[in-house]
Amino acid sequence: MTNPFPIARARRIEMRRKQLGYPIRCFHCPETDIFCFEEDHPVTYGLDPDFKRAVCRNCHRKQEARRDIKKLTKNGQRNVHESEREALRRYLLLMAEDEDSQAELLQQAPTTPIPLIVTASQARAASLRRKAQGLSLSDPAPDSKIALIKAPVAAQVVGLSTDAGQTRRR
Ligand SMILES: [Zn+2]
Repeated sequence: MTNPFPIARARRIEMRRKQLGYPIRCFHCPETDIFCFEEDHPVTYGLDPDFKRAVCRNCHRKQEARRDIKKLTKNGQRNVHESEREALRRYLLLMAEDEDSQAELLQQAPTTPIPLIVTASQARAASLRRKAQGLSLSDPAPDSKIALIKAPVAAQVVGLSTDAGQTRRR
């Protein structure tokens, strides 16, 4: 059957392609139909909304199930309080999961187009940098012991008077 609305269809395809960042195919499989594509957030939307890639609906479900089974998502949970440290731990585990899924992809389909892998690696690096820049550098309460141990040492280095420094001068 011929398409009675070729311009409308072409416009919809272009809009969808733009929205998804002009994907050449699904990241995980050879699917190329743009209307099968969805946006996947490999480390979840909550942990980095800007880290996303186009995948087909099937592969999207598989990836989400994989994260759910490993308890790396907050799907179906309500009012979950997560400390910055817990969120960072989950982020790192999700990032490791994403690396693993790329390794599996390359093992199973060594002819996966290189630009797909390059783009994915760059997106991962950009996400890691965003996460590093967003980290607060002041130590939270559980780390105060480490801070106390380090403080006299740092003070000695800059020649400040501390108990440790005075002991040494006597
Ligand atoms: Zn797919």
